[in-house]
Amino acid sequence: MSVKVFDTKEVQALLEAAANVNSEKGNARAKQITHRLLSDLFKAIDDLDMSPDEIWAGVNYFNKLGRDGEAALLAAGLGLEKYLDIRMDAADREADIHGGTPRTIEGPLYVAGAPLRDGVSRIDIDPDDGAGPLVIKGKVTGPDGKPVAGAIVECWHANSKGFYSHFDPTAAQGDFNLRGAVRTGADGQYEFRTLMPVGYGCPPQGATQQLLDALARHGNRPAHVHFFITSDKHRKLTTQINIEGDPLIWDDFAYATREDLIPHVVEKTGGAALGLKTDAYKEIEFDIALTSLVHGLDNQLVNRSRASATA
Ligand code: FE
Repeated sequence: MSVKVFDTKEVQALLEAAANVNSEKGNARAKQITHRLLSDLFKAIDDLDMSPDEIWAGVNYFNKLGRDGEAALLAAGLGLEKYLDIRMDAADREADIHGGTPRTIEGPLYVAGAPLRDGVSRIDIDPDDGAGPLVIKGKVTGPDGKPVAGAIVECWHANSKGFYSHFDPTAAQGDFNLRGAVRTGADGQYEFRTLMPVGYGCPPQGATQQLLDALARHGNRPAHVHFFITSDKHRKLTTQINIEGDPLIWDDFAYATREDLIPHVVEKTGGAALGLKTDAYKEIEFDIALTSLVHGLDNQLVNRSRASATA
């Protein structure tokens, strides 16, 4: 069967009816997007001659995706989240906004509500025998290169098993283990005392991995640390750093790696004096340059559903 029905009056009328585009009621933008996406889908079904079995496999897949709670994970894995970054980068270039630490994807595992501390926070609360101590520190600056006081630096990362607190299926971590928030002082400095993360993979039985298997793709990320940096007078930055030396740095299933986001990992001693679990530790220096508001507004704030908890 290789019929072409997309351009018929019947199908075009069906699309208009389904999106209710000829009514004054409802949300005009929702109708516009529904009409366009449904049209693109119908066209693809015609062009690729998709069978009913394939369509129902797709519908059933969405049900599994929802049951598994993995829609945001799939969005990262299929490059949708990266695509939004590419568009925001292009919008910045068009608006003549240059410099600043590069953005990269947020991912689905942020939890709001981490305890806020001044300058320094130790965030490894639960024991993790598989991980050695890590200090992540740096300075937050503005477009003028001067330190930004009062910036809130948040970070979150996985433990040595590749699990994030709050989402850990082994329940080995409290809600805010390896999650922190620090307010910078006049020097713009922040510091997290934590443990070295490892990379992680998609849940092996989940919907995301199921599709990746069909595409012959892996679902793994290199070791990384996520950041939000918020300041009243600057645009919020969403970014990550990769842990230097991870073999998957340039093979991240979520496409988050960027050249300027792989700071050096330096071997240090003196951890005992800092309250770390061993004297030898690793240190990453990651300075963060923020960009200005645009006409007084943050044009790169992203609203999305996020977990929250109370510390
Ligand atoms: Fe992550």
